[in-house]
Formats: sequence, C-alpha cells, structure tokens
Amino acid sequence: MSDDSKHHICIIGAGLTGLVSACALASAGYQVTVLESTLHSGGMVTSFNWGKSRLEYIYHHIFTSDNLIIRLIEKAGLSDQLKWFKTRDALFAQQQIHPFTTPLDLLKFPLIPLGQRIRTGLAVLKAGRLDNWSELERQTASNWLIRHGGEKAYTCIWDPLLRSKFDKDAEDVSAVWIWNKFKLRGSSRNQKAGSEKLGYLEGSFGLLIDKLVHELIRMGGTLLTGHTVMNISRSEDVSVRYQISCILENCTTVHVKADSIIATVAGRQFAGITTSLDMPEPYRNQIQNVSYKGDLCLILRLKQKLSPYYWTTVCEQLPFVVVVEHTNLIDPDNYGGHIVYLSRYLDAADPLWTQPDNVIYQQFMAGLETIYPHFSPRDVIDWRLRRTRYAQPVIHRQYADRMPALDTPLPGIKLAGTAQIYPEDRGMNYAVRLGLQAARSVYRESQSRPENPLEQSDIMLWLYQNLANTNDL
Ligand SMILES: Cc1cc2nc3c(=O)[nH]c(=O)nc-3n(C[C@H](O)[C@H](O)[C@H](O)COP(=O)(O)OP(=O)(O)OC[C@H]3O[C@@H](n4cnc5c(N)ncnc54)[C@H](O)[C@@H]3O)c2cc1C
Repeated sequence: MSDDSKHHICIIGAGLTGLVSACALASAGYQVTVLESTLHSGGMVTSFNWGKSRLEYIYHHIFTSDNLIIRLIEKAGLSDQLKWFKTRDALFAQQQIHPFTTPLDLLKFPLIPLGQRIRTGLAVLKAGRLDNWSELERQTASNWLIRHGGEKAYTCIWDPLLRSKFDKDAEDVSAVWIWNKFKLRGSSRNQKAGSEKLGYLEGSFGLLIDKLVHELIRMGGTLLTGHTVMNISRSEDVSVRYQISCILENCTTVHVKADSIIATVAGRQFAGITTSLDMPEPYRNQIQNVSYKGDLCLILRLKQKLSPYYWTTVCEQLPFVVVVEHTNLIDPDNYGGHIVYLSRYLDAADPLWTQPDNVIYQQFMAGLETIYPHFSPRDVIDWRLRRTRYAQPVIHRQYADRMPALDTPLPGIKLAGTAQIYPEDRGMNYAVRLGLQAARSVYRESQSRPENPLEQSDIMLWLYQNLANTNDL
C-alpha cells in the first residue's frame, strides 16, 4: 500500500545504478517505485541459469580497486562468494595467439620493434601514475599513444584495442579514456608478478542484484518489471510533481506519480521520454549529442576449452573483438560445459546490428575457427545472443564540458546513465557510485524527510550512511 503523505520517488531502470539508488532512498524511508522495461532486473548484468549455476549474459568481472562494489558485496553478506583470480591474457595478431599478461610478455612481443615495446611499457606506467587527468582532456588517445609508444605499437596493439571498443569513433576517443584504463588495470596488478587479479562472484553478480531487489521490497519499495516508461509530464494533481506514463507488454498504459525521478538510462532515451517537459535547449542538445556504441555478446557453452587464456583481444578483422573464456576462472562443471563470450561493440547503423541472431552466430563461428583451428561448431552445446543498444558512451575530447549533468534543469529529475560517469569508464563499481550520487542529490533536495526506519540490515544501513554522508564518493 502506498503512503500518500510520503515523498514519492520513481527510479527508471532496474540495473545496478537504479537498484542502488532505490535501496539507498528506501533505507531512508522514502516511498520508492522502480520501473523496468524488461521482465528482469539487472540491466547489463542480468543473469540466467545454465547447468547447475547462474551466469551473466555478458561477461563481468571486477578489479581489486573497485572499492565501492567490493564493500556493497560485503554488506550484502556475499564476501564468501567473491573470488579473486590471476588471469592470463592474450592477443590474436597476424594469425597467431600471443601471451599478453605481464610486462615480460610485452617485452617479448615479436610484432613491434624492441624500442617501441619499451616505450609502450613506459607509457603504460606513466599513465598509471598520472593523477591530473585534465591535461589529457584536449588530446585524443590515438595521438597520445603514437607519441608515447610509437607508430608500429599503435597499429599493432592500441588501434585494434580502441576499435574493439569504439569502432569507427576510435580515432576521436579522448586520451582520458585510455589513461583511466591503464590506471585501473595497473591498480589491479600484483606488483611482484605483474599479473592482474580479477574478481568474480561465484553464482554470478545476479546474487547481488537479487539481494538489492529483496531489500527494496522488504523496505516497502515496489519493482514493476515489464513497464517501459514512454513519457514524463507535469502532474495535474497538485499534490505531486510528475506523472510517468508506462506501456506494458499487453499495450495497455499505466501512470505512476512521483515528486522526484532518477532516470538510469542513456541520454537519448531520456530525451525521448521528456519531450512533454520544458527542457532548456542547451541541456537537450547535450543529452542528444552523446553517442553510444551497441554491443553484440554471444555466449557459448562448449564441449571443450579453447585456450588457457581468460581474455583474448582480437587484433585482426574478425566479426568479434574479444574472446572471454569464463571457465578459465570458474569450474566448467558448474555450467555443464565451457563458457566462452564473444563480444563486438559497433554502431547501431552497422548492418551486422540488425542481422538475425543465427546469421550473427554463423559469422562469429567462422571467426572462431580462424583463431582456434581445433575448434569446430560441433563443439557448441548451446548459445545465446545479447544485444545491448546503449552499451558504451563514446568519450570524446573535452568530455568534461560535454557531459550532461546528473542534476538536470528539470526540478527533481536526475539523469544517472553510464554517460554520467567520468573520468572513469562505466562499470559496476561506478554504477554503485552513480546510484549513490543520484540518491544523495534527491535526498538533499527533499523537503519532507521521512522517519528513518529502525529495522536496517547491514546493506541498507551502509547505503543509508552513504546517503546521509557528505564525504565525496
Ligand atoms: C559488453 C559489456 C561488458 C561489460 N563488462 C563489465 C565488467 O567486466 N565489469 C564491470 O564492472 N562492468 C562491465 N560492464 C558494464 C556494466 O554492466 C554497467 O556499467 C552497469 O551494469 C550499468 O548499470 P546501469 O544500471 O547504469 O545501466 P543498465 O544496466 O543499462 O540499466 C538500465 C536499465 O534501464 C532499463 N530501461 C531503459 N529504458 C527504460 C525505459 N524507458 N523504461 C523502463 N526501463 C528502462 C533497461 O532495461 C535497464 O535494465 C560491461 C558492459 C558491457 C556492455
């Protein structure tokens, strides 16, 4: 039952950002409703059952420096399931797989001259130690990498890496983006061995999503799946600010009232649902101007493993750009087979984006046979394909000036999508931070603070403390 005297908050999207915001505000006693267009919670980190266990449709791991999500996992009582793994990485270049895990692998890498290998290593170290990223804002990643690592190192390693993420926009990506990658990966490295440690939640990150949903409902919040928000308008009812219109799967429309809204969606999606509101032109331009890459992620269950590597970057023209062998971290017995993800970021205008699933599958299979000659499509037990339209915002130069603010010019409405994360790149750790930032912003503006509920679990208490705290996140 909804309590009409309470400040009503509506969260659009039941991904990690939306659920963290929702739980943080529910922990402070607000009336919270989450609207999710799909039938599942989790967004990009949605999981499903395969074999005896669950796993994500899209590969996910965390880094040792991802402090906020590590803390959230701990407070959710899931620390025992969080396992850390030393991973082995590789590059597929010039028709060969090359180990690419440690600085020594870089030094031995045969496809670029020795001088450029050393310069590349030094450039990675330099970037990892740089704290003032604002000086990189005006430079493109490609210029910075060529200047520091050399032309051959760029064409062989970095250009494929940038293309793997940004496709045709690779040359325009800001140096801040690559700086952040070096910094993140450097901080997840073991100083002595130089190899990286990655974290995974045994049983899938879906366990964390379930816990958040459970806590939200336990605190009186509501999660409405299958509710696609189509429009936000001013409410005619003077007791509440906004009316949110949703379309359901059966094409009926329902309306939800809210005083504050947190939209955890892409800028362009936000622009589409706010056309009835009087949005100042400069902000509308900003949200429309952020471009996003889509992602195709094929998950395969195989009869045998492909390689000893967790992560293989593909530096050749193939339909996918990365191979992630999940069962080189987690025992394949859990899933009844070896789990491999193949991923490709691309423009929604790319003809591949709209191909039927089985056409994409066939193309990916042909690519896999090129890399691993011992692989046969007969090794595939089953597969799923996931399309994520707004998978990665493109971070251009001087993004600090282009980024649409979380506090929109519309009173009480916050935009907390992946494009609101900067200078870091989007990821689960930053989804937790963004969810808390959005919730804090609503909390600070709220005139009518409800009574703080007394019965708090560890996770809700932690979220509440973060909501009320004034320290930086
Ligand atoms: C290929 C790939 C690999 C990744 N790997 C990693 C990794 O290894 N580690 C890591 O930390 N992160 C990784 N990420 C990033 C991570 O998944 C995201 O940063 C995080 O899940 C974003 O959460 P979110 O809640 O902000 O967005 P989302 O998960 O996108 O949630 C937004 C939700 O809003 C819903 N929605 C959209 N429009 C509407 C509407 N109109 N009405 C109602 N609901 C709506 C969507 O259905 C969705 O559920 C990866 C992402 C991709 C694409």
